[in-house]
Amino acid sequence: MSAIVPSFKKDFSGPIIMIGFGSIGIATLPLIYRHLNLKSNSLTVISPDETNRSIAESYGATFLHGALTEDNYISVLQTLLGDNQERAFIVNLSTEVSSKDLTIFASKNNAHYIDTVVEPWPGFYFNNNISKADQSNYALRESLHELKSELINTPTAISCCGANPGMVSWFVKQALLNIAKDNNLDFTIPKTRIEWSRLMQELQIKGIHIAERDSQISKLEKKPGVFVNTWSAVGCIAECLQPAELGWGTNEKDLPNDGHQHNQGCKSSIYLDAPGGNVKVRTWTPTAGSHYGFLVTHNEAISISDYYTIKEEGKVVYRPTCHYSYRPIEATVESLDELFNKRNGKPHTEFKILTEGDIDSGSDQLGVLLFGNSKGAYWYGSTLSIDETRLLAPYQNATGLQVSSAVLTGIFYALNHPDEGLIETDNMEFSECLEIQKGYLGKLSGHYTNWSPRNEIEIPENDDPWEFKYIRIND
Ligand code: NAD
Repeated sequence: MSAIVPSFKKDFSGPIIMIGFGSIGIATLPLIYRHLNLKSNSLTVISPDETNRSIAESYGATFLHGALTEDNYISVLQTLLGDNQERAFIVNLSTEVSSKDLTIFASKNNAHYIDTVVEPWPGFYFNNNISKADQSNYALRESLHELKSELINTPTAISCCGANPGMVSWFVKQALLNIAKDNNLDFTIPKTRIEWSRLMQELQIKGIHIAERDSQISKLEKKPGVFVNTWSAVGCIAECLQPAELGWGTNEKDLPNDGHQHNQGCKSSIYLDAPGGNVKVRTWTPTAGSHYGFLVTHNEAISISDYYTIKEEGKVVYRPTCHYSYRPIEATVESLDELFNKRNGKPHTEFKILTEGDIDSGSDQLGVLLFGNSKGAYWYGSTLSIDETRLLAPYQNATGLQVSSAVLTGIFYALNHPDEGLIETDNMEFSECLEIQKGYLGKLSGHYTNWSPRNEIEIPENDDPWEFKYIRIND
């Protein structure tokens, strides 16, 4: 196998502060050094975990050993920025450092900002004094969006720019254009949110799965009691224990018995009284075909359903259902089985993130499945093998490269569009983003399928097989 390693370059002369240096941090750092011409000693990594210090230092980064906290983050970051007049870049790839507080800090201190999830400070998810509604990804996103009206024409700050959330929002737009073309629709490429929503509505899309099947195979035997994953085990456990959440489309007739709507905000999504890592959903990806995944809560389920909402006289007339269907590697599926069926939801204390060296073979197939159009459901996405990943970039598996290359893309986008304030990946020019990222995504392809839940279960003839009640497997 051979691969063409992307070689595009851009100058950036300001300081870069990378917070967190776990699986995604060590994956992103080499791409930053490969694609940005930096001033020497301009990149600092902050991490309380020194495991990967030598990797950061081998690239010329300064490694600051320590944790950012609610009490120290302003002084630590201000000291690092000093009286530097050049615009800085804060890259938050940590767990448990507040995205909202860092977004505010960046805007006040002439810095760009990027993260891959909306992170709260520690304790948030396990605080029994906070209601499930307020602990949801929906609430975290809403709290960030309170800043939107203040952060206009400020240094571009990109929320949730990983693979998913992140890149998959660009895939949705590419998929829409492909389906429109295949339907011989007479259309012009949409420019605004409402134009994109109308195109989706015209194509009769009822819903979208963020359908991921990670078939990477570990060389290591899974030890009982160890949570194994291809990215943050701590992050994966936290999101699998959170209530499942999904964008709730106008196609849905019955709110699930354990489903709850929100009273405030955009109201694009609902949450279930069940942890997402224990809710199974039917879906389809090109290589595996029909299978089940876990409906883990993710920001993109909420942002995509919100972005494509059409209202008339204040009333929602169109919105797609949207949710994640995550089928991680078998060792993670086993770890989730332990978490829910042996540990009764008590988080593991031993973790293993598989490096590229721990993986034998396989691919991460991550894309979007749009259903409702008469041509059938359409999956569009990336199939990236571990073998190609090894040729493209160091210190990462296929999952990591889909994320790190999206972070790199976000950094380039912010530098190309420096004063856009707070944005999400749905707001970014998708073709520019995919043009930057595509060299790192393996095979980018679209596939139609005649699969629907009706292939799996009896559904009354007059019912719509795409309703969530037929997608969900266990109640
Ligand atoms: P990881 O657990 O491997 O690493 C997390 C890093 O954060 C570690 O270096 C840890 O020491 C550091 N950290 C923890 N607390 C900190 C603090 N208080 N101050 C500074 N650093 C701190 O996680 P990862 O796999 O690298 O993931 C990083 C983030 O990216 C997580 O939030 C994860 O959910 C997110 N993620 C997003 C996507 C996506 O596609 N959007 C995909 C994978 C991971």
